[in-house]
Amino acid sequence: MQSHPGNVFVISAPSGTGKSTLANRLVASLDNLIFSISTTTRAPRTGEVEGKDYFFVDDAAFDEVVRANGFIEWVQVYEKRYGTGRAWLQSVLDSGQDVLLDIETTGAMNLRRAIPDAVMIFILPPSAKELERRLRGRGKDSEAQVKARMNHARHELELYHAYDFLVVNEDLETSYRQMESIVWATRVRRERMVGRAQEILRGF
Ligand code: 5GP
Repeated sequence: MQSHPGNVFVISAPSGTGKSTLANRLVASLDNLIFSISTTTRAPRTGEVEGKDYFFVDDAAFDEVVRANGFIEWVQVYEKRYGTGRAWLQSVLDSGQDVLLDIETTGAMNLRRAIPDAVMIFILPPSAKELERRLRGRGKDSEAQVKARMNHARHELELYHAYDFLVVNEDLETSYRQMESIVWATRVRRERMVGRAQEILRGF
């Protein structure tokens, strides 16, 4: 991907860790940070809006984009596919906005190869026991689903070392502040500030 003024933040986490709560609050609270809108072949859930939650497409349309190399990364999860549009992302970043991508670990690894300066954030549960307790507490999953999610969570957690920041979500408020700090700190990294510093220097 070409250089761009906007920052890319990637957030991954096993389900039940509070990722969506944290990501939604971050995008709602911070100016100039928007959610990436992925393309998917899965059906919309109740309340989901085309062009806001996802771009919903059929298999043929997804294939077409894959063939045209139009995804910067894409994955297949069970029978369904999810991808991040290259042109969409480039245009948002070119406009100077920061983008938050909520993508699973395989896609995150691929995105990192395409955008080496992407800031990768992984959210961990405080412990396996606590994650299991939270998953049961949601009451959304059968016993078998909880077991499957725990198993999948372990596989995802094994990839923690590929991320730049590890946020252990023990207390939502603390985790939120940590995530906000990551965004603010990234925005003032030297590489991002060189132009501004030079401009100030020229005034002397
Ligand atoms: P859901 O179907 O619940 O919306 O999402 C299922 C999983 O797909 C989540 O872990 C989400 O982070 C991931 N996902 C959503 N969009 C993308 C994408 O564009 N690329 C990748 N790699 N994963 C995605």
